[in-house]
Amino acid sequence: MKIGIIGCAGRMGRMLVKAVMETPGAKLAGGTEATGSSALGADPAVLAGLAPSGLVIGGDPSALFKASDVVIDFTAPAVTVANAKLAAKLKTRLVIGTTGLDARQQKEVAKAAKTVAIVQAANYSLGVNLLLGLTEQAAAVLGADYDIEIVEMHHRHKVDAPSGTALALGQAAATGRSVDLAKVSQRVRDGYTGPRRIGDIGFATLRGGMVPGEHSVIFAADGERVELTHKAADRSGFAMGAVRAALWNKGRMPGLYGMRDVLGFSTK
Ligand code: NAD
Repeated sequence: MKIGIIGCAGRMGRMLVKAVMETPGAKLAGGTEATGSSALGADPAVLAGLAPSGLVIGGDPSALFKASDVVIDFTAPAVTVANAKLAAKLKTRLVIGTTGLDARQQKEVAKAAKTVAIVQAANYSLGVNLLLGLTEQAAAVLGADYDIEIVEMHHRHKVDAPSGTALALGQAAATGRSVDLAKVSQRVRDGYTGPRRIGDIGFATLRGGMVPGEHSVIFAADGERVELTHKAADRSGFAMGAVRAALWNKGRMPGLYGMRDVLGFSTK
C-alpha cells in the first residue's frame, strides 16, 4: 500500500516516514513540504535517518495524492483543510493528525469525509486511546462529587492549547457523565475565580522542554483521588498508530472515522 506524507520534514513527518518504511505492507509513495522549506529536493528517508529511498520531497500535494493510496497529514489546520478538499476531489483516502482545528475547519473536514474515507484522531497512540475509554468509564461510575481536572504537558514548540488529546479526554469524561462539555469546561483559571463549580471539567496546560506529550485525568473527591496518566516517551507511538490507521483505511466507505474504529473498541 502506497502512503504519502504531507509535511514529511516536520517532527511528526520524519517519524511517519520511518514508520511507513519499517511497516510490512506499506510503501512510501513520497512526501511534500511547505513552499520555501529548506527540505524541498531532499530525500525524505535520509531526513528520517534511514538509507536513501531515491524519492525527492516536492511541493505539489496533488501529485502526492495521485501517487498514493492513502495520505497522512500532520501539519497545521489551514493546510489540513486544503488537503481534505483535495482528498475528496482526487478520491484519495486521508489520515489526519493535525490538531487545533476550529469549528469551521472541522466542518470542512466532515464535508470532505462525505466523499472519501478520512481517519482523524487527536492522538494516535494505543495507550491514549485506552485512556480515553477508561476516562469515559470512570466518569460514568464516579459521580459529580468527584471533580474532574485534566492536566497536560507538551514541549515548548506546541502552538495549540489545551492539547487536542486533553480536549478529547474532556469529551470522553463529559460523554461518561452525559453532559455537554461546552457547558462545563473550565479551560483557563486566572485571578479571583471564586470556588470551583460542581460538575465542571477543568483543564490545566503546561509547556516546556522537549516533552512529547503527558496527560492526566484526575477525579478528586473529599476522601480520595483517582489519577489516570499516560506519558509518551517519544513520538514513535503516534506514528505507528497513524500508519496502522492508514492501512485500516484501505477499502473503507466514505466517512469520518476515529482511532476507536481503527482499534475496534468502543465504550458507550
Ligand atoms: P512541525 O512544525 O514539526 O511539523 C509540521 C510540518 O508541516 C513542518 O515541517 C512544516 O514545514 C510542514 N508544512 C507546513 N505547511 C505545509 C504545506 N502547505 N505543505 C506541506 N508541508 C507543510 O509540527 P509537529 O510537531 O510535527 O506537529 C504537527 C501537527 O501534528 C500539530 O498539529 C500537532 O499538534 C499534531 N500532532 C498530532 C499527534 C496525534 O497523534 N494526532 C501527535 C503529535 C503531533
